[in-house]
Formats: sequence, C-alpha cells, structure tokens
Amino acid sequence: MKIRPHIFCDFDGTITEKDTLVFLSTRLGAGPEFVRGIGEDLRLGRMTLREAIDTEMRTIRLGFDEAAAILQREITLDSGFNTLVEWSERIGIPFTIISAGFHELIRLFVPAEKYPWVNVLANHVEADPVRGWQCHFRDDGPFGHDKQTSLREARNRGEYLIFIGDGFSDRQAAEMADEVYAKHSLAVYCREQGIEFHEYQNLAEVQRRIEESR
Ligand SMILES: [Mg+2]
Repeated sequence: MKIRPHIFCDFDGTITEKDTLVFLSTRLGAGPEFVRGIGEDLRLGRMTLREAIDTEMRTIRLGFDEAAAILQREITLDSGFNTLVEWSERIGIPFTIISAGFHELIRLFVPAEKYPWVNVLANHVEADPVRGWQCHFRDDGPFGHDKQTSLREARNRGEYLIFIGDGFSDRQAAEMADEVYAKHSLAVYCREQGIEFHEYQNLAEVQRRIEESR
C-alpha cells in the first residue's frame, strides 16, 4: 500500500443497503413512478444530479423526526461497515464518507459520538413539511456535491485515494481515485470505461483486500 492512504466511501447504497434518498422519495414523497421518471431523465442527461435530488426532495412533506423514525426502521447498513471503520481507526487510515446525499441523514446512521473517526462530506437538507424538503448543496456545480473536486483536494495534500462506491454519483470519483472498489451500476460503468477496479459485495471484502495489499 502507498503512503498516506485515505478511504473515501459513498453512503447511499454503499454503506446503507438501500438508498435513503430513493427510499424517502419513493415511500414518503412523489412515489415510485415519479422516481423512475427522474432516474430516466438523469441517465439520459435531461437533468443534472443536482436537479434530480432537489426535485425529489421537494416532494417530501414530512417533519424530520417522523421521516428519521421510518428510515431507522427500514434502512440497514452493510454488515462489514463497523469493522471496516474500527480497523481503519486502529491502523490510522482516515475514513471519509463522501456523499451526494445529506449530512442530516448520514448522521442518523453514523452518529459522530459513536464514530468519531469518520468524517462526512455531504450536502445539507432542511426538512420543511409545508414547502417540501429544501436542499443546500455543497457547491454550485451540476452534481450539488462534486466528489471529484473533494478527491482532488485530498490528492493535492499528497494522499493515496481509496474509493468505494456503487452508483451514478460515484463515476467521476472513480475516475480520479488510485484504487476503486465498486458494485452495482458503478461496477458496470468502470468496466465500460476501462477503469481498473475491484468488484465487491460486502465491505468486509474491501477491508480484506486493502489489508492484503499493505
Ligand atoms: Mg450510492
């Protein structure tokens, strides 16, 4: 393993088994038909990721606590997540969750008190039950949070970038990282684009492989 490794890990669909944003807008917002339509617009380039997330979140008319209780009941984490974080802390590899979703939702599952080692780079959301949920994005670009920009900052600090992800918002990050762990549509994308990557199903496999390469 190279010097100064840093693990950057996507949240939705990577640390969680279900995507919290898809779950929220499907179950508590505009419904599955609407969400499918947005996904299609996104894939065909008719909508930016920022517009897609903003549009979906505005359809949710629920207070935060109510939504949080439902999420905590329905969303489970990858069974390898805890040990991966504990291990990275023990051997001193920084661990950052890098997400196109929201701090407020990530911290429901990865609270700072329980996971002081984990840093979070994400957008913010204000749960407005009257106007719909309002997004506050990290940057002004078409992604809302450009993961590649965040990774580039780490590279400029001289870090070796290990990236773990599963989906659409991870593509540019996978292009930038030194070492990529991918599943689902990100694995398909990496294969199509000729990006070198390790395919995985559970985060425990990622940990084993990083350990072996040290
Ligand atoms: Mg994801």
